[in-house]
Amino acid sequence: MDTQSQVLDRLRSAFHSGLTLPEDFRQTQLTKLTAMIKENEELILSALHKDLAKPKFEAVLSEIDIVTNELHYAITNLSAWMKPEYVSKTLATKVDDCFIRREPLGVVLIIGTWNYPLQLLILPLVGAIAAGNCVVIKPSEISAATESLIAELIPKYLSQDCYAVVRGGAEETKALLQNRFDHIFYTGSQTVARCILQAASVHLTPVTLELGGKCPCIIFGRLVMTAAARRLVWAKFFNAGQSCVAPDYVLCSPATRDALLPALRQALDDFYTKEPQSCPDFSRIVSPRHWTRLMELLKKSRGKIVVGGEGNQEDKYIAPTVVVDVTEDDALMQEEIFGPILPIITVDSLEKSIEFVNRREKPLALYVFSDESSVVHKVLEKTTSGGFCSNDGIVHMTLPSLPFGGVGASGWGSYHGRWGFETFSHRRACMLRGWALERLNCLRYPPYGNDKLSW
Ligand code: NAD
Repeated sequence: MDTQSQVLDRLRSAFHSGLTLPEDFRQTQLTKLTAMIKENEELILSALHKDLAKPKFEAVLSEIDIVTNELHYAITNLSAWMKPEYVSKTLATKVDDCFIRREPLGVVLIIGTWNYPLQLLILPLVGAIAAGNCVVIKPSEISAATESLIAELIPKYLSQDCYAVVRGGAEETKALLQNRFDHIFYTGSQTVARCILQAASVHLTPVTLELGGKCPCIIFGRLVMTAAARRLVWAKFFNAGQSCVAPDYVLCSPATRDALLPALRQALDDFYTKEPQSCPDFSRIVSPRHWTRLMELLKKSRGKIVVGGEGNQEDKYIAPTVVVDVTEDDALMQEEIFGPILPIITVDSLEKSIEFVNRREKPLALYVFSDESSVVHKVLEKTTSGGFCSNDGIVHMTLPSLPFGGVGASGWGSYHGRWGFETFSHRRACMLRGWALERLNCLRYPPYGNDKLSW
């Protein structure tokens, strides 16, 4: 097996040879990647089931379909994205050719995480290939079955000169990060993001960070609670709450909470039955360590569990759980939950909920549920977040025409669709000037004298 530095040398010399520059080469690799997903769908689904007990429907929707749609979108639009972008000119540059040229960055590193272990590697990879880079892919060791499948499949389908998978955990990733990359694209926790930034600073490598945080869901107004509860439960408990854009907590008035609770119970029963542990449509927590963290959080919380609360360590199962009477200083509000526990916090007014959100780090996604568009617009105007969606959760990230990413502590930069291509491209400012109009240049050459500025 090649060492990390042999892998990097191979990729760097392929990049310098210009192999990845032609559109044809990029299109071929994207087409092969599509074939990789299509021809191995069953193997992928079974690896995802091994790692997280992902229900087939959720795995198809959030891993297979989102990736194949992204590939199709890139294959269809690549030619247009690669074209030079001509810009407006001044009088002095009227006869020049002035344009922005998208160039690949070089050899880039993509570090993925375990909750959507296929999607979170392949979506950035699509952008990186489309932009003409060579890529080192580092899957998460925690979703071990998917990690090993990706390591087996990528070299079978993609050019081994240009793309490589490096496996391992924190130690191997730290060693990898000592190398010089032209860009690092990291998805994961804020804690590890700090290590990535430190390593990147040594080589002044630009970094995209796709992080998390606590995504609020503000519920205000006289809603149809059945629909609100169903949408909220779906977005929260999809993948057992292990989604970076899952609603982390609900903010609402005491009256809304009282109306919402029976609707939440009903939606949970309808979706996952009264015995969710036996329901094939409910995922498991990824590892015993993550299971323990969540159960500890629940134990430390001073809130009142009104739904669920049970867990089974051996099965890595935690019941869909709803907790009320949660205060701002509660254990559940000190870190991103990233599991099937939904705290509900009551506030007196919409303004108070906006203040609550604005006191905290900028979230990756912010949701508002209301029957009044003035409420939706007020929240939109008075807050900020990576993404925003009214009256639903998660779905805004399925559109390749919208940039996906955080702001501030929830992430730097964005991807999906054209945004991924842009993230992995350098926008080179080009002016192609000929030899005409040299007589005009005497205006800018010395001797300047005293009267040139008065023109
Ligand atoms: P993590 O940060 O622990 O691990 C992610 C990757 O970093 C893995 O490949 C791992 O091998 C590597 N890694 C771990 N420790 C390292 C170290 N010390 N140095 C270098 N590399 C190291 O992942 P996690 O905390 O389990 O991920 C969950 C977080 O990711 C949540 O906060 C979630 O919101 C966030 N997330 C964000 C997105 C997004 O798109 N914005 C998507 C999914 C998850």
